[in-house]
Amino acid sequence: MQGDDILMTMEQRLAAQRHAFLRDGAPTIAQRKAALRRLRSAILAQRGALTAAVSADFGHRSPYETDILEILVTVQAIDYLLRHLKRFMQPERRHVALPYQAGRAYVQYQPKGVIGVMAPWNYPFSLTFIPLATALAAGNRVMLKPSELTPRTSQLIETMLAALFPADEVAVVTGGPDVGAGFSTLAFDHLVFTGSTAIGRQIMQAAGKNLVPLTLELGGKSPAVVAPGALTARTVNSLVFGKLSNAGQTCIAPDYLLLHQDDVENFIALYDAAVKAFYPDGPTSHDYGAIINDRHYHRLQDLLTDAQARGARIVPVGHRPDSAAERPKTLAPTLIVGAPDDSRIMQEEIFGPLLPIRTYAAFDEAIDVINAGPRPLALYYFGPGGPLQDRLLARTTSGNVSVNATLLHFAQDDLPFGGIGPSGMGAYHGIEGFRALSHAKGVFIQSRWHFTDLLRAPFGKLADAVLAFMLRRR
Ligand code: NAD
Repeated sequence: MQGDDILMTMEQRLAAQRHAFLRDGAPTIAQRKAALRRLRSAILAQRGALTAAVSADFGHRSPYETDILEILVTVQAIDYLLRHLKRFMQPERRHVALPYQAGRAYVQYQPKGVIGVMAPWNYPFSLTFIPLATALAAGNRVMLKPSELTPRTSQLIETMLAALFPADEVAVVTGGPDVGAGFSTLAFDHLVFTGSTAIGRQIMQAAGKNLVPLTLELGGKSPAVVAPGALTARTVNSLVFGKLSNAGQTCIAPDYLLLHQDDVENFIALYDAAVKAFYPDGPTSHDYGAIINDRHYHRLQDLLTDAQARGARIVPVGHRPDSAAERPKTLAPTLIVGAPDDSRIMQEEIFGPLLPIRTYAAFDEAIDVINAGPRPLALYYFGPGGPLQDRLLARTTSGNVSVNATLLHFAQDDLPFGGIGPSGMGAYHGIEGFRALSHAKGVFIQSRWHFTDLLRAPFGKLADAVLAFMLRRR
């Protein structure tokens, strides 16, 4: 960002963006595609710098994880938008009822104007850039507020975007909760917030003052249900991938497992073997990540202590190096069996490499456990298609679902992604994301000749006849 811009207050930046939007109008499809392509090239050019910045911010994260879970998904989302933009932008013809024919009705998708984007620390790049790309595709200008817990990545994002866009098109505001609180009071045309449910409540209140429409991408406890007899090495590999990528610091990580009571010991053995195969050097493996900061590291340890104090069995899994070799803020993968429902680990979003196992005797108990909690962001089911899967999907309500997989619904660009209730509001990805950041303007164009001329004052016999025809019994 340049000299004068740094001095601008957030309101001034917003005013500059709004002014530029009103001055220039909606960008053409060519301009939008050019912006997306510029973004794509810059991401590829900065790939090494991005993976290094993220790893430094976390203390350690495998560059492969950043490549796959941040850079690849973002590039894929941009390619998706480039491929479908023409169709998304096209006005949509709508039905016109008989009295108004031969008029025409259509919906025009118009950019909303200036979109605010607030991002969390856990995937500091993709959760900033996918909303950014969506907002640009929909023809908007964007103000971004990345997380203060990943300062190197946030700084790199700021530098990257300042080199790509003028500040009245894309601007980055950095800072902590105070800046975030100020940011959320700005009179944006739409605000996309990704973060915790607790802060999401505050954001909604702040946005309400200006009636700013919101997309809230929040968190919660996402269950993984394994059907009786569906416990295979493939199922367990998928759970290890979902739970231990980014050391469990994934909003849609399987938070806890719902498992048939007879499968527990078999599961522990399979999970232990899978963790050993994924991470041959234990928690010091290059592909195993660190916890973002001391506060979260101690929070996770407190969850374990609380569960143990309440009678749960703590089961260490995977290879364990001698403590001298441990990496700071690195928590080894752990299973927890028999934590009571009111223990902290069964109540709070875990966001770490700890997997509690909640057993069921009859499959419908699993449905009851899910429905007793807040509606989750993601639901995972492992098992055959058929009645159990159908019942689980029909009788639970969650943001998204992956069957026989974890996390992968996020990478389906054509599916809406979002939560429901405490896990979020609205969605991005897919046409839903484009539409969330567009105004669906209904337009009716009257024809020269139309029936409605017959229904105006002075009313009389003609109106009686038309009404009798229109309101006839069928
Ligand atoms: P967070 O809510 O603490 O922070 C998110 C953003 O809000 C950051 O930019 C932060 O600076 C800002 N912020 C913090 N305190 C604020 C305040 N008092 N007022 C205004 N702004 C404030 O979330 P986090 O810890 O960065 O991220 C983890 C949470 O995010 C988890 O709950 C996770 O499930 C959720 N999450 C959800 C998704 C999703 O797509 N649904 C994705 C990733 C993370």
